[in-house]
Amino acid sequence: MVTVRGSLESVGARLKAGRLACWCGGTLCPWGHARPRQVATFAGPAVVRPRRGICRRCGRSHVLLPGFLLSRRRYAAPVIFAALALRAAGLKVTAVAARLRLPVPGRAGQCWSVPASTASSWLSRFAGRADALRQAFLGLLPLVDPQGRVVVSAGSVIGDALAALEAVTAGLRARFGGLDMLAPHEVAAHLTGGMLLAPSLPPLAGNTTLIVMAAVSPS
Ligand SMILES: [Zn+2]
Repeated sequence: MVTVRGSLESVGARLKAGRLACWCGGTLCPWGHARPRQVATFAGPAVVRPRRGICRRCGRSHVLLPGFLLSRRRYAAPVIFAALALRAAGLKVTAVAARLRLPVPGRAGQCWSVPASTASSWLSRFAGRADALRQAFLGLLPLVDPQGRVVVSAGSVIGDALAALEAVTAGLRARFGGLDMLAPHEVAAHLTGGMLLAPSLPPLAGNTTLIVMAAVSPS
């Protein structure tokens, strides 16, 4: 799995032009589509059918997961990250879920809230690996930000992991052109190949990140 930023059209055009890279650094070529998936977003439900690419160098094929999705999660990453931020701000899980209001399709002004059990599953999965993530993000920070940004403790494991992720995101924005709008959830999705909340967390992309980073720029 490789995560990519930008519209499906932009991804398709970059794939055809050989501008998307595999984790090994090889060039990806078009390789059909993955199955469509329905996801809940703050803008309403969406059906996404990611493209697939195959690597010219290592022969592996990858689902090109949009940077606003996480693998096997039926909610868009901005919704999940809003839950993490609310929890880090001290809200209880039920209050976090109640605050995540998503529009009902076809009914202007009507919203539904994320079920508490769903928000709870994201929060407990993230909290269980938050310290490992924080350390991994801090380990990456000198690569993307040689000036050494200081990360202030946020006072909770989730808050500290998010603060380290923010610092990496800020470093990437400053260092690479075309990433001004890069969001922390996109960085997290990208560094984990979309597996941020998968049953087991993969090792974060290290040096290869800087090569593959070209893949996350929609320009
Ligand atoms: Zn490859």
